[in-house]
Amino acid sequence: MKRVIIVGAGIAGLATALRLRQIGWDPLVVERAPARRTGGFAVVFSGMGYGAAERIGILPELTRRAARGYDFAYLTRNGRPRFKVPASMLFRMIGDDALTMLRGDLEAVLYEAADAEIRFGTTVTGVSQDAGGVEVTFGDGTVERADLLVGADGLHSTVRKLVFGPERDFLVDLGHMVGALNLERLPDGAAEGSFSTVSEVGRTFVVADLGGGRVAGYFIYGCPDTGAELALGPGRALRRAFPGPRWAVTDLLGGLDEDALYFDGVAQIVMDRWSRGRVVLVGDAAWCVSLFGGYGSSLAVGGADLLATTLEAHPDDLGAALAAWEAGLRAEVADRQRRGRANIAAHAPRNRLELAIQQLPLRLAAVPPVAHLLRRHHAA
Ligand SMILES: Cc1cc2nc3c(=O)[nH]c(=O)nc-3n(C[C@H](O)[C@H](O)[C@H](O)COP(=O)(O)OP(=O)(O)OC[C@H]3O[C@@H](n4cnc5c(N)ncnc54)[C@H](O)[C@@H]3O)c2cc1C
Repeated sequence: MKRVIIVGAGIAGLATALRLRQIGWDPLVVERAPARRTGGFAVVFSGMGYGAAERIGILPELTRRAARGYDFAYLTRNGRPRFKVPASMLFRMIGDDALTMLRGDLEAVLYEAADAEIRFGTTVTGVSQDAGGVEVTFGDGTVERADLLVGADGLHSTVRKLVFGPERDFLVDLGHMVGALNLERLPDGAAEGSFSTVSEVGRTFVVADLGGGRVAGYFIYGCPDTGAELALGPGRALRRAFPGPRWAVTDLLGGLDEDALYFDGVAQIVMDRWSRGRVVLVGDAAWCVSLFGGYGSSLAVGGADLLATTLEAHPDDLGAALAAWEAGLRAEVADRQRRGRANIAAHAPRNRLELAIQQLPLRLAAVPPVAHLLRRHHAA
């Protein structure tokens, strides 16, 4: 039985563990966090991820947890209604083979199905490889040998740093910060079954009610120096970027549990190769498209699925398997990264004109001819 060590128990790492187990490999997952990281905002899970979920057998459970239908309710910063994009329009834009769900629900379904050995509170400090295998040193000094090492440790990947080079060689900073967390209840004034959105020059705040008590909050703002925001810490950075008083935000940031918050810069990872010998990167570690690309979890699951498929097709030639895998993914990743860079202004418009231009089609979205145009635009 072939042995694989997977670094990171996020969407990419768990999907890789699940798929490699399905083709007869023995996975060991190591995760730096002391326990599962279940947080995050809503993701639209579609395209190659949706197809992979169908093949893997997790689509019914994902569908059960997905949002049934939702509107986008636009509010003023004081919480007064402005306009609403109806669910029917949104579902036409997203398409049939797509699910909107909490990132944490996707993580939970993959975790249950993967049923893999996970060592929490562990990281990797060293990697060396020879013709017969790869040796991985963990934070506690222990060493494990495997046939393959998968770096699925996200945007700030340690495996990438150890094997491919420093983050600055690959990271493209998109000049925004994102914060996301799950909420215990819907804030007063938020519409049930809606994504309640306050969009202003420079920043957006959203509360999503996905049904069944699942509520998540999301902050995004533009900034000149993402490193300085991270150094400030999430609570102080968000309070400065969303000064009060503001509907829902002021209360939320007042009692913020910083450990439960996902807070990071928005960035892409651009690399000219995703594997070196017996080490391969999957998910954000390899190709982060960013939330502006809007397809990160789909690519993570789709990429993991394709990795297992190509390894199975080339059982005695790892190099050929990894080359075929990368060739099968490159075009899709490049396209999503391009779309992500083209979409920067949509989340934190730089001025009133950009804000108005961005919201005009939304305001008109219920009008049939505009709906038709939008549908064509999103299908392109
Ligand atoms: C808790 C959480 C919440 C998120 N929320 C959002 C969100 O709201 N919006 C959004 O756009 N994106 C969010 N993301 C990122 C999103 O999940 C990814 O863009 C996408 O799903 C691809 O997943 P990934 O598995 O490649 O990376 P990630 O989801 O980032 O997973 C990487 C995993 O590796 C672990 N890890 C990192 N470094 C090490 C190390 N050195 N050793 C061991 N383990 C390590 C991390 O703890 C994490 O569990 C979130 C990620 C996390 C972890």
